[in-house]
Amino acid sequence: MRTEESPPVRLADYRPPDWLVETVELDIALHPEATLVRASLLLRPNGIGGVPAPVVLDGEALALRSIKLDGATLPQEQYVTTANRLTISQPPQRPFRLEIETVINPSTNTQLQGLYRSGSTYCTQCEAEGFRRITYFPDRPDVMAIYTTRIEAEKAHAPVLLANGNLVARGDIDGGNRHFAIWHDPFPKPSYLFAMIGGKLACVEDHFQTMSGQDVTLRIYVEPGKEARCGHAMESLKRAMRWDETAFGREYDLDIFMIVAVSDFNMGAMENKGLNTFNDKYVLASPETATDADFDRIEAIVAHEYFHNWTGNRITCRDWFQLCLKEGLTVFRDQEFTADGRSRAVERISDVRALRAHQFDEDAGPLAHPVRPAQYHEINNFYTSTVYEKGAEVVRMLQVLLGPQKFRTGMDLYFARHDGQAATVEQFVQCFADVSGRDLSQFMLWYSQAGTPEVVATGSYDALRRSYRLELAQRVPPTPGQTSKQAMVIPLAVGLVRRDGGDLPLKLGDGRAADRGVLTLTEPHATLVFADVDQAPVLSLNRGFSAPIKLITNLSADDLRFLARCDGDLFNRWQAFHGLATRLLIDNVSTLRAGTAIAGEDSGLTDALAATLTLGGNEPAFVALMLTLPGEAEIAREIGQNVDPEAIFAARSALKMMLGNKLAAPLFDHYRRLSERIPYRPDPAGVGWRALRNACLDLLVATGKSDAIAIAVRQYQAADNMTDRIAALSTLTLCDVPERRAALDNFYDRYHGDPLIIDKWFTLQATIPEPATLDRIKELTAHPAFSFGNPNRVRALIHAFALGNQKEFNRPDGMGYGLVVETVLALDQKNPQLAARLLSALKSWRALEPGRRALAQEALRRVSAAPSLSPDVSDIVRRSLAED
Ligand SMILES: [Zn+2]
Repeated sequence: MRTEESPPVRLADYRPPDWLVETVELDIALHPEATLVRASLLLRPNGIGGVPAPVVLDGEALALRSIKLDGATLPQEQYVTTANRLTISQPPQRPFRLEIETVINPSTNTQLQGLYRSGSTYCTQCEAEGFRRITYFPDRPDVMAIYTTRIEAEKAHAPVLLANGNLVARGDIDGGNRHFAIWHDPFPKPSYLFAMIGGKLACVEDHFQTMSGQDVTLRIYVEPGKEARCGHAMESLKRAMRWDETAFGREYDLDIFMIVAVSDFNMGAMENKGLNTFNDKYVLASPETATDADFDRIEAIVAHEYFHNWTGNRITCRDWFQLCLKEGLTVFRDQEFTADGRSRAVERISDVRALRAHQFDEDAGPLAHPVRPAQYHEINNFYTSTVYEKGAEVVRMLQVLLGPQKFRTGMDLYFARHDGQAATVEQFVQCFADVSGRDLSQFMLWYSQAGTPEVVATGSYDALRRSYRLELAQRVPPTPGQTSKQAMVIPLAVGLVRRDGGDLPLKLGDGRAADRGVLTLTEPHATLVFADVDQAPVLSLNRGFSAPIKLITNLSADDLRFLARCDGDLFNRWQAFHGLATRLLIDNVSTLRAGTAIAGEDSGLTDALAATLTLGGNEPAFVALMLTLPGEAEIAREIGQNVDPEAIFAARSALKMMLGNKLAAPLFDHYRRLSERIPYRPDPAGVGWRALRNACLDLLVATGKSDAIAIAVRQYQAADNMTDRIAALSTLTLCDVPERRAALDNFYDRYHGDPLIIDKWFTLQATIPEPATLDRIKELTAHPAFSFGNPNRVRALIHAFALGNQKEFNRPDGMGYGLVVETVLALDQKNPQLAARLLSALKSWRALEPGRRALAQEALRRVSAAPSLSPDVSDIVRRSLAED
């Protein structure tokens, strides 16, 4: 590795800041190449340690113009600047005012951190460490200050000037050529929540009355001409505001709440106080331009960022190790919001599928890390599925362990006790310990131990004693830096299902009842005996996915088929089917690799699906999930080692084809029946119908039969909404038929003026599972609609290939890895965050069969050998290659 290794930042080394900042007054004169930033900071010694401490301010890519202390210019010998710091070694040990003038260049800022330009709009992104690219500052979340921001710009270039808080003044200067706006945020906040915007933007306005009767102005700012696509985001925002009041008693606290959509954005969205900035992909939607899935994501992200106002902003993180404190908790809140708005089971299944697809993979590979890491080299690389999604699961387990009421009481205590503070995970968990009287010290292992726990559950029925014996054993696999693990607290929601489908009463042998149907495993092994069991039951364990574990049971295929039909817990009904399909797929992969043809045997999957389709009673969105087979990456992870992605692809395609053939009659039937339901409606019922109809279509088209292809072509052409159009096109792109090219060309012609829709076009082509795809992607990188400078385009084409096209990304000649590595190296100097994210697509390389494993390792070594890597990429490649 050529990059010099800086020492890691360690949680154990945390110490409170020596200096606090009470107020920040910023005066920002916007200019494309030379923006002048005047910062006036009121500093106060924190009074820790008892010894005089220097003032150390972070700063990056800043040109320092002047520095004054209490109004007097600070002589040069009294401070030192380096590439990333400004140090005043002997400041007065009393409160004083520091005035710093710096100049920055937003136009050359391609990292998209700090102040940069997206098109002609000036915007900021400060999380995690971007504020230091705007001015010198103690850029750490435990320094919370009151901000007043004055922005000034040429009126013609930036008629809209926004910052955090409430608008307190605005006016013209320079005869009306220039103008200014002053914003004041009365709530103390860390620097990462600072934001400002300047540009030509249109806005949509609405109002919300809070539960105590305050009127809040709501505004969404977008590029002029796109106002009509903001309706769904605005409605989502109002629903989220109301839900946070009813579900958590949280009310909004400023006069105005603003969302600004920008097209160049590294993240999904950012919760800056009162001024959320969004990737425009997560704001703009209309039935003609966005799919049902896009609508759902917009609602979830708008809600997520809004919920941060309390979990993240009012109570923030003490340091970046506590990132899960705001992210895990807020993901949990947005999942609950979505579950309350539609089917809870469908939401839970979707969330668990995403968790398994991303987080379980991460937890099983070289990038595994605890929900709260103990150290990092580059914090930008820890905005991971583990911190977010597993972090949410940990909060959910607290709810399962305590029950919903005690959980809510614990949340209330957290808000009351820590409002206005920068808190820690310990302080959060302590609130739940206090309200429940439970000792949660063992539970804290969920924050410190990486890896997905495995639970083996073995059940047996004793007819003579009328008892059911359940043996449980847990194990957490080793992960980098953690070879031996301790037993975790694992809450397992359980049911013993009778043959008629009902649940048996849960009475433990010692006379206790299982608390709300939840067993808590705390030891490496445990044996539980249920009494008064009058018939052999079928075990339904980890209902609702009560713990984020890998569960191994001794359930037979018959038991799984039974649960898939009868389990009262909808999640486990889906899980049983999913488990059955996974077992079959793994067997078929072995068969194919042994050079034998797959037998026609389907473990009763067809019967189970036929029953689901014909029985009725299930909601359409749920049936659609049943019809969707486990993904290739998930099958790969279940296989675990010596993985052959091509065999997995072949086995999965063959099973899809077989199901499509065997179930052709009911699938056609459903497809036709659901087609009559149209016209398009964006409500949950409409979403469910479309999901089911398109799942039927996907299985039918998998047969490759011409009648099915014809239906897909017809649906593509006749669709009056993007969901149906994309569904038809995406299933067509999996078939090597002439209709595919024609439809793709037609799609481009229809939508070529709209980058967000053309992103879908890029993704569809990147995910065609055929060898020609690689060359096609290379051609597309030269397409006028593509740009390496825009993160959405890179994600739509290259990232989609690496994550969504397992077969071609893992080509046996290694050229798929080559494409990703070349892109990473080309991007690294411009946008290291984006490059590092892309490189992490290689995280499962060790699980591959030897040939591909060697090629993937070689690809990673190529990155590692490249000169002057960014800290972001260097960190990912070092951890990916580490022998551990
Ligand atoms: Zn967040």
